[in-house]
Amino acid sequence: MQFTDFSLDQRLLQSIKHMGITEPTAIQEQALPIALAGKDLMASSKTGSGKTLAFLLPALQRVISTRSLSKRDPRVLILLPTRELAHQVYSQLRLLVANTQYKAISVLGGENFNDQAKALAKEPHFIVATPGRIADHLEQKHLFLNGLELLVLDEADRMLDLGFAPQLKAINDAADHKRRQTLMFSATLDHDEINDIAATLLKNPAHVAIGAAHSEHNDIHQRIFLCDHLDHKEALLARLLKDETHKQVIIFTATRPDTERLAAKLTAQGFATAALSGDLKQAARNQIMDQFARGQQQVLVTTDVASRGLDLLNVSLVVNFDMPKFAEEYVHRIGRTGRAGAKGDAISLVGPKDWDNFKKVQVFLRKTFEISTIPGLEAKFSGLKSKAKQTPTKRVAKAELAKGKSKRTKAATPAPSRDKRFITGVDIGDAPMRKKPAAAKLLQDNDTEEV
Ligand code: AMP
Repeated sequence: MQFTDFSLDQRLLQSIKHMGITEPTAIQEQALPIALAGKDLMASSKTGSGKTLAFLLPALQRVISTRSLSKRDPRVLILLPTRELAHQVYSQLRLLVANTQYKAISVLGGENFNDQAKALAKEPHFIVATPGRIADHLEQKHLFLNGLELLVLDEADRMLDLGFAPQLKAINDAADHKRRQTLMFSATLDHDEINDIAATLLKNPAHVAIGAAHSEHNDIHQRIFLCDHLDHKEALLARLLKDETHKQVIIFTATRPDTERLAAKLTAQGFATAALSGDLKQAARNQIMDQFARGQQQVLVTTDVASRGLDLLNVSLVVNFDMPKFAEEYVHRIGRTGRAGAKGDAISLVGPKDWDNFKKVQVFLRKTFEISTIPGLEAKFSGLKSKAKQTPTKRVAKAELAKGKSKRTKAATPAPSRDKRFITGVDIGDAPMRKKPAAAKLLQDNDTEEV
């Protein structure tokens, strides 16, 4: 199938060609006809599979080919959970609108509120936004959504995890539900909260699922190394970075202070390294991401703030220095490599405190990992005894139990525990705490799009 098979405006076809894109990906092939027909859609697809164009092209086509419902209101609103992700979608959108007379702006948390109010007053056709900030502007009556024709929610599950359900509902209430089309995208759509919000926001949606989130990502070579303590993790990481050749590397740590500490160590070892966390001001975050995207740093140490959607084609290795608390996050983290058909590597360092989270990943992926070792750096730690009651991932727990598939956890049964004395007291592997904004809190300078 070709892009010319869809009824897309010539200007859009030209822009796609300029981007060097020739054929639609699987998600684009399936989502485009539904979205172009004006139907609501719930779509899930692996990270890096071309989801962004699957909603941007129909959005542009709709605006180009139909009359607006209102002269002043935005026609398309695209919501994303984090500013980095929004920034990235906005960049792609700008390439597409550049060829047209339409205006697009981004409205993100952490940026100047009054400047945004002025930009909104100029009546843009497209807005890319984080939900907290757009809800603030709605409250202040800086924009109205009565004429909204298309609402896109990307990484919808993550928005709910961050506590944005009230803001999504407020946005839904402000927009004319009957005439509006809604597209909901995410790499993972299979949890109860998503279905609840979808029932509120979408009308008879079509469903498209390209490859389950837990299915094997063949382009990413995943390896697991067991570790005894923090020093051991650092020694393994140093050896792996030294011995293997990688273009760019993203390392995920559990906490924000860890990003700084580890980045300082790697810098001292001669790796051009930056630390990115939600603690930093937005301008600093943008600068770090821009520099990394341009290849000025080889290594980026971060928390889950960078785990979703970011499209950095030169990242050939992702390291889980600490395992994520939620198994889905593992899929998003490793999805920072192996993008658009490229090969990538993912390495996870699993210490005693990571063990439960590692098991959740195995349950989620329905896979038992082989353990890799490096001569001279083998771990004494070989896993913890499984507890009587397993706590699988938050989202799959209910579904898996309901389906009576708890046997799957058997495949993930860890190697038998050896000796308790190997479980050191060193504080490693604590996954980051999730920050949930208070439900009704709509601060003027809403800064909740942080992880
Ligand atoms: P996404 O999943 O939207 O973040 O896209 C991942 C990467 O795939 C981005 O670099 C896109 O520019 C690229 N991409 C999107 N659609 C296609 C396509 N049809 N063919 C090749 N690359 C694509």
